[in-house]
Amino acid sequence: MNTETLLTAVTKRFAHQPLFVQAVTEFLASITTVTDDFATTDWQRLERLLVPERIISFRVTWEDDNGVLQHNMGYRVQFNSALGPYKGGLRFDPSVNEDVLKFLGFEQIFKNALTGLPLGGGKGGSDFNPKGKSDAEIRRFCYAFMTGLREHIGIDTDVPAGDIGVGGREIGYLYGAYKLLTNSNEGALTGKDELFGGSCRRTEATGHGVVYFAEAMAKQHNLSLAGMTAVISGSGNVAEYTARALLDRQVVVLTLSDRSGYLYKETGFTHGDITAIAAGKDDGRSLSDIAVTGATFHPGRPWEVAADAYFPCATQNEVGKADAEHMIKTAKLIVEGANMPLSLEAIAVVQDTHIPFAPGKAANAGGVSVSGLEMAQNAGHYAWTCEAVETELKNIMNRIHTQCVKYGATEDGVDYVKGANIAGAKRVLDAMKKLGW
Ligand code: GLU
Repeated sequence: MNTETLLTAVTKRFAHQPLFVQAVTEFLASITTVTDDFATTDWQRLERLLVPERIISFRVTWEDDNGVLQHNMGYRVQFNSALGPYKGGLRFDPSVNEDVLKFLGFEQIFKNALTGLPLGGGKGGSDFNPKGKSDAEIRRFCYAFMTGLREHIGIDTDVPAGDIGVGGREIGYLYGAYKLLTNSNEGALTGKDELFGGSCRRTEATGHGVVYFAEAMAKQHNLSLAGMTAVISGSGNVAEYTARALLDRQVVVLTLSDRSGYLYKETGFTHGDITAIAAGKDDGRSLSDIAVTGATFHPGRPWEVAADAYFPCATQNEVGKADAEHMIKTAKLIVEGANMPLSLEAIAVVQDTHIPFAPGKAANAGGVSVSGLEMAQNAGHYAWTCEAVETELKNIMNRIHTQCVKYGATEDGVDYVKGANIAGAKRVLDAMKKLGW
């Protein structure tokens, strides 16, 4: 067997799951230096790794504000538990289906492995659309969702967190339901409020981690973030805290975006601008309706804006081939804040240059890292200081960077995709072997 025959088989069997096939394609293509030495049992183990251990799906019936029953689907993909309990977010978005969650769960396995923490990989969510729903509808949906999910999760089994459409408010309602249904407080979700077991800095963690990783990449390539211009896509949790952390390092943040388009400010957003944008988004407004002094609104995506650094922080496949061709004209760094925002064609364009490019599974691992620290705090019944969490987050991101360099160093730079996939895969496959899997 070789990676090509394995990929051909996966592509054929899962032709109806293009995102999952995309994630597997990127993964298999970048681990060939490892698979070159594979024995038959290693190939069988790799094949096993490509199949989720369990996929749970359930109906979620909830009552809307008009007293009408609504039905959505809820899912949890428990992909791999070799390193520890399944860990990964919940996404509430109409686009959610088994394909989306299998791709996200697959990415999560290696991301979690890279953190060095004892975490397996999983992902879940629902095709429920939180946009335009009242607070009461969100609460009733979360309670109904947890009624279906609770028997499948637990601190030593599976510990969900947030993702697109699931923030602090939703985690609060989901955990509120879990506590009532199980009469327990052990903390089977992360991203909780600090009032009931959440970790300081979990909210900021993904964005802060992205910027720690970008700093490490800059240092590795004799660059400095200070004074750079940056284009960021998205205006959710990851985009917000990536923007704030970049701002704190004297980076000029030119754009933030949403599904309606992007805001562009030539002199760069201030913390005040970002606060106003975040508040507007929380109120359910789109960027086209949020006025920021000195900024202009443009429909479409921000990739034609020239910048030194690009941080796609919105969603999968938001950067296509033509977008990447714009980016490479000026980019000195490209760092994925979202999960798989660059298409395979876009990655190929970027990798034809020697512009350092970090995949999300390495660069956005800060969120799940602090989730791991939240689990440790819950198990110890003790909250760490904000400084202790931030220091550990920085250490973890630097360690991930070091691993990427170790396994991804090339003659003229670092192939971070290769480095991240090999470092992550090695840990998971070694664990599977030692477990007799
Ligand atoms: N959804 C986040 C991610 O993509 C966080 C997962 C977690 O904290 O479990 O990594």
